[in-house]
Amino acid sequence: MKIPINLKAGSVDKEEKKEVIIGIDLGTTNSLVAYVDGTETKVIRDAAGSNALVPSILHFSEDGVVVGNVAREKLISAPERTIYSVKRLMGKSYADLESLKASVGYNVIDQDTEALVKVEIDGKYYTPTELSSEILKELKSRVEKHLKTKVNKAVITVPAYFNDAQRQATRDAGKLAGLEVLRIVNEPTAASLAYGIGLSKDDEQTIVVYDLGGGTFDISILQIQNGIFEVLATHGDTHLGGDDFDKVIIDYWLTQSNISSAELNQNKSLGQEYRTEAEKAKKAISTVGSYSTTISNQELHIDEQTFATLAKSLIDKTLNACKLAMKDAKLKNEDIDQVVLVGGSTRMPIVKTAVSDYFGQAANDSLDPDEVVAIGAAIQADILAGNRKDLLLIDITPLSMGIETVGGLMDVIISRNSKVPTRAGRQYTTSVDGQKNLKIAVYQGERDLIEHNRKLGEFILRDIPPMPAGIPKIEIKFILDADGILTVKATELRSNVETQMEIKSAYGISEEDMARMLIDSLQNAESDMKAKALLESINEANNIVMATDRFLEQNKDALSEEQVTQILALKAELQASTKGENKDSVEAAMQAINVYTEPLAHEALDRNIGKALKETKL
Ligand code: AMP
Repeated sequence: MKIPINLKAGSVDKEEKKEVIIGIDLGTTNSLVAYVDGTETKVIRDAAGSNALVPSILHFSEDGVVVGNVAREKLISAPERTIYSVKRLMGKSYADLESLKASVGYNVIDQDTEALVKVEIDGKYYTPTELSSEILKELKSRVEKHLKTKVNKAVITVPAYFNDAQRQATRDAGKLAGLEVLRIVNEPTAASLAYGIGLSKDDEQTIVVYDLGGGTFDISILQIQNGIFEVLATHGDTHLGGDDFDKVIIDYWLTQSNISSAELNQNKSLGQEYRTEAEKAKKAISTVGSYSTTISNQELHIDEQTFATLAKSLIDKTLNACKLAMKDAKLKNEDIDQVVLVGGSTRMPIVKTAVSDYFGQAANDSLDPDEVVAIGAAIQADILAGNRKDLLLIDITPLSMGIETVGGLMDVIISRNSKVPTRAGRQYTTSVDGQKNLKIAVYQGERDLIEHNRKLGEFILRDIPPMPAGIPKIEIKFILDADGILTVKATELRSNVETQMEIKSAYGISEEDMARMLIDSLQNAESDMKAKALLESINEANNIVMATDRFLEQNKDALSEEQVTQILALKAELQASTKGENKDSVEAAMQAINVYTEPLAHEALDRNIGKALKETKL
């Protein structure tokens, strides 16, 4: 233990206050923030102390940006200056978003289909990262007001399927909000931590996280072992959530009041009234079983049974995604230790019952489903703050990473299932005399040939000083950080020439693609091995051809014409064999040239030694 002593005063200082690291659930519909205070996890609530949810909505007013409930009220009156669902835009290019553009009230900019999207407000352009940072600023200031101190560090959660660009955009949003993002954590991992699953090293469980929020649905299956959280499968629907349940109620009421959907769309305030009342009805059904109201003199009513019938197809959609995820993970219900419920919409009894029935066990709903992810993020933050010393949470890399070597072979540097963060390196050299540049192409995947793996990026190590082939010592280092972001460094050790690049795709593979790549690698193991062996022989043959040329050049005066002709003929045969697909003929041709040139090489060596001795005598 460290005891701070004040040397001037000659006294022992009071224990220094530990820095608080906050956990943030940055949601599509709502966001919230939590922190750990001693042994207690606290969720920050509004001034009234009741509501922890901050609607993920921003409004650009004349006086600046407002976030949360105040912004939500502007959705109807100022739709073009009120931004929601920013999370759907994170790390996306315009090409990804054609469908979304038509459905939002604000202006999404089409600059270049490859570029990341921007939102236009009053002639100014904002990136989703900037917009998200406004939400994060609001959360940061809420905590700071509550704690009466500055907060600078955070853990932020993202869906398990978020790719590297989306994770990076989230991390950047944190930075813009003045937060050092210590870790980006998968939402299902956070949910699991909130339920205390995986908090002990000996914990071994397979869990299902069923997350039905306001606008999105995610199902994730996690395997937790030795503090490692492995996402076995994810599925879901990015456009299915509580809003759709509200919509079935609205549609039901419209048939009773003889209003068409088109009329409702035109009359914005009536539409909003219907939406508000439908959401109230849905929540009332969860607790008291029915709801009655009056809109524009029309009496409206709905009960539990009717709602259950109307919502069945929505729930079935989620169960179908559960089925697909279980199939991907190759698991049966009896393999699942726990089912955890996340997201406000899992408060609906019909959802709870359907999920429990589907998995054949009572789903765990003891925590507030809106707060689960933020609580888990706060626990992860507390671990990073060093307050739970015995605990080290680790993620693992799902696919191997390596570089292309001669002949298109994959040389694995970090293998699949390595714990992250990790670093590994290997030394290479050049294959051509005086080679100045070396291309380093980085791949991810399990196959022996790079053409079957996924390219993550490439860069060139330039200005290697001229040296004979084989002499440069080129060290290639892979550094994979805790968020799965890979940095590759190449250094020529003799001259210290160095280049590096950050590869931003470690998470950029969907679960489906990953599963396919793994299956392919197993199915093709035999043919891959053959192809690899052939390529290795060809590489060796090419080296022999080069060595032969050097030998002929260096010994041209000592060799007879017949010997030169014979060597050239064997070299031509060897070169021809490398054009074919037969490893045995390459080997035979190598053997033939080696058998013939070996005694000649010995003679040359003797000659050179003799010459050297003579020169010393002189
Ligand atoms: P989230 O995105 O997790 O904040 O989810 C919010 C969604 O949960 C909204 O669609 C709410 O209408 C819904 N929700 C919140 N409370 C209840 C409840 N008691 N019954 C049904 N849905 C609810």
